Amino acid sequence: MAVLGIDLGTTNSLAAYWQDGKVHLISDEHGEVLFPSVVSFIEKEGLVAGYEAKERVLTHRADTVCSFKRFMGTDKLYRLGEKNYTPMELSAMILERIRKNAEYFLSEEIEEAIITVPAYFNDKQRNDTKKAAKIAGLNVERLINEPSAAALAYRMECGERDATLLVFDFGGGTLDLSYVECFDNIIEIVAVAGDNYLGGDDIDRLIAEYFCRENKIQPSIAEYAALVSSAEAAKCRLGQEREVEIVQNVSGKDYRAKLTDDILFEICMPLFTKIKKLFLHILKDAGARISDLTDLVMVGGSSRLGVVQRFLTELLGKRPVVLGETDKVVAMGAGVYAGIRTRKEDIRDMLLTDVCPFTLGVEVWRKNGDENALLPMIERNSTLPMSTHEHLVTVHDYQSEIRVGIYQGEEYYAKDNLFLGEVTIPVYPKPAGQEGVDVYFTYDINGILYVEVVNSQNVREHILLSGQELSLEELARYQQGMKELMLPPILREENQKLLAELEKYYENSVGVKREQIGWFINWFVGGLQSRRLHVVTRTVETAKAQLAAWREREECAEEELFDGELKRQFLEGWEEENSGEWMQEDFKEGEEEE
Ligand code: AMP
Repeated sequence: MAVLGIDLGTTNSLAAYWQDGKVHLISDEHGEVLFPSVVSFIEKEGLVAGYEAKERVLTHRADTVCSFKRFMGTDKLYRLGEKNYTPMELSAMILERIRKNAEYFLSEEIEEAIITVPAYFNDKQRNDTKKAAKIAGLNVERLINEPSAAALAYRMECGERDATLLVFDFGGGTLDLSYVECFDNIIEIVAVAGDNYLGGDDIDRLIAEYFCRENKIQPSIAEYAALVSSAEAAKCRLGQEREVEIVQNVSGKDYRAKLTDDILFEICMPLFTKIKKLFLHILKDAGARISDLTDLVMVGGSSRLGVVQRFLTELLGKRPVVLGETDKVVAMGAGVYAGIRTRKEDIRDMLLTDVCPFTLGVEVWRKNGDENALLPMIERNSTLPMSTHEHLVTVHDYQSEIRVGIYQGEEYYAKDNLFLGEVTIPVYPKPAGQEGVDVYFTYDINGILYVEVVNSQNVREHILLSGQELSLEELARYQQGMKELMLPPILREENQKLLAELEKYYENSVGVKREQIGWFINWFVGGLQSRRLHVVTRTVETAKAQLAAWREREECAEEELFDGELKRQFLEGWEEENSGEWMQEDFKEGEEEE
């Protein structure tokens, strides 16, 4: 059964699948691969989605909704006909149409999908995306971040050389930046940064404002909305024409303004300043410099704009890589991941890590504070999966329980962040600070958070935050998986064995060699404590290779001793006194005894 990779976009959605070593996009009965993320209500017919709905955007504005992805995770309601719909329900309609179209296209039933989401989606937005898929009849075991999908598509197109990428995903309403390291078969997302309110729509508004300034006019709200639409059309035409004229009727009179790349570059300056700040932010989070980047990968509809490419070339001093059509790259990556999911032979070994886009923490009381603060447990941009632990103590004399409130976000006060859940556990009543609990956080690559709290009597309470209703079986499976992840690399059995072997070499050596082995052990332990998966993987590989080399050298040294001058003289002496056959028999007996 095929697994679909779906880019559920703000403007358009696409679906892809993996077959015969390649990603394929799914097209509809008209051969179109872009499926407009638009829903419209038609009297007597009901709700329609996709192209049919898009055609009604201008003619039936009140009955048609688009860009609802921007409000995913909120309780915003859209009225269509007699009913109200949430962004989640509208997304479910889009996903259902995509599933049915794919089933028709592939002539088979589809139950599973990988869906891409903006890196900056919080838990609520991700969970609503999963719920929308469930309503549409799709199981979603994994959501992947849109820039991660773009990095997968890059890997497929640009080969397997090591690379450090910056994925620039510039859509209609959002900008997502991801710093990605590609080593061997590992694609590691090191840091993400972005702005949920910065996109092509802002460019349209800037063009509209320029138009009003040039013509010294103040249009009504409806006229301004029409002007923004003309501005968008002119912006898109600039790709093919050197100069575009915008003509707009305001208060019964036609006004005009010309748009060129140079004018648009000037108009976009405030936006470019924001983009530059985001670049500095992500480079700081990744601990990197611009010169560390090998490629800049551009995705999203707004990346097509010549002025955006020009600005980035000037900023980075290198030309960006534009992978085919920027609006299809994310879906292509989702299709690659669908292939990984179904374990297709040709891409089976590719490993994609991700980072936690927001900090996860617990609510704690702070001296001199009016409100409880957030204590970060897993910081934003930590590589997933990730496990951490903290000890919390009581703050009131003789309190009999501790409540651990779990939040997501970057704000200082706990209440200003997104509340995810809580765990309450009894504690032995003692003076404040003398009793406490250990809190363990484990966050996996599917965005599932497992929190375990243990008191001093070893009583354990836990909560699994997955955003989905899980069966008992699924719950047990996740819990077991989480327990395994709770072990940091240094405590894993395989790595403990390597460490023990290294220590044995240390004990058996002397002088400079011993000193070098001691130095190597320090390096090995340091590497295992890294936050980066590829550093941990390489450390383990290097240690294995080093141990293999030492073992081989030792065997050679033994062989040398056996074949060496001393042994030769020794054997010659023996041969003079005894027959060689006797010696060989003796050795054989020894071997058999063993
Ligand atoms: P996305 O959210 O990735 O679908 O991107 C949508 C944004 O891309 C909208 O702001 C569009 O105006 C913009 N866009 C689409 N096509 C073009 C184009 N050819 N040139 C410039 N901007 C475009």
